[in-house]
Amino acid sequence: MTIIKNAIDSIQIGIEDHQANDDRRNISAVRNISAGILLLYKEKLCQLSPKDNKELLIKQNIRPVRTEDGTIQFEGKGHKTVDVQSIKDRFKSLNIGVDWSRFDNINRLRNDLEHYYTSESPDTVREIIAKSFLLIRDFLTEQLKLDPQEVLGNNAWSVLLSVTEIYMAEEKSCQISLEKVDWVYSTVTDSIKYMRCTNCHSSLIEAPDSDEYYTSIPLRCRSCNEDFTFDEVIEQCIDDSLGGEAIQSVMDGDHSPYDTCLSCDKETFIYTEGKCVACEFEMEHTSCEICGEGLRLEDQWNEGKCGYCQYKWEKVMAE
Ligand SMILES: [Zn+2]
Ligand SMILES: [Zn+2]
Ligand SMILES: [Zn+2]
Repeated sequence: MTIIKNAIDSIQIGIEDHQANDDRRNISAVRNISAGILLLYKEKLCQLSPKDNKELLIKQNIRPVRTEDGTIQFEGKGHKTVDVQSIKDRFKSLNIGVDWSRFDNINRLRNDLEHYYTSESPDTVREIIAKSFLLIRDFLTEQLKLDPQEVLGNNAWSVLLSVTEIYMAEEKSCQISLEKVDWVYSTVTDSIKYMRCTNCHSSLIEAPDSDEYYTSIPLRCRSCNEDFTFDEVIEQCIDDSLGGEAIQSVMDGDHSPYDTCLSCDKETFIYTEGKCVACEFEMEHTSCEICGEGLRLEDQWNEGKCGYCQYKWEKVMAE
């Protein structure tokens, strides 16, 4: 069986799982569709491999060897095939475009679903299917030059299309309702798209009453009808919105864009806002009174001096 055939089978079985209307098969639906996407990527790598070694590019380990006539060739070592990170690296060096942020988003949702799945999560399943559909459709068309409706078959195609249309329409109406709220800070506005229900993890959240102040704005999950307020999810929103940037900053030796607030203890103190976006706590000292360097929360105990100036000042005082 070829890889492309496996990929399409896997996606079709996933759709049958979803159509079974059996909660226990929803996880399996998501697993099969995700497996199908990875197989589509592997198919592309096989297509790009040399004619005499069609599986070269899906081997996790590739090494250069010198043949008897002295030319350098590459060969795959071992049986291990490429993992997600290697597929990303190879697509990048081979100039193959994939919307990786969408792919990562689906992966994160899938992991969450494996941990938190309840009978109240069908909208999360629909969300994953809808987002997967867009990846599958684009990759089949743009990279594999196939007609997605033809290769997926009419049944799978029409299910994918209708799940996606329903999800997108619901998402749109939630967006419109959330846009009516004044979120006050741009960091908060940017983080709203990461908002999830505290009960079922769905992203279909609306704000039935947009007049309240943003921290206490009432929210409702369209999937399970759970009611909650924004201050219950603000940390999660900020973390999902800035977490990646924070990790990158630390790796680059820079400071994280946010910190634990000294007043409310939430991870919502945002340096670019100069404030905690949950309780609006502000730093008393924003720059060093001696050298002018911008201060961090941990410098607040030094009464307006940065760590270095504080150290020097203490040294002078000790002499
Ligand atoms: Zn919910
Ligand atoms: Zn705070
Ligand atoms: Zn200083």
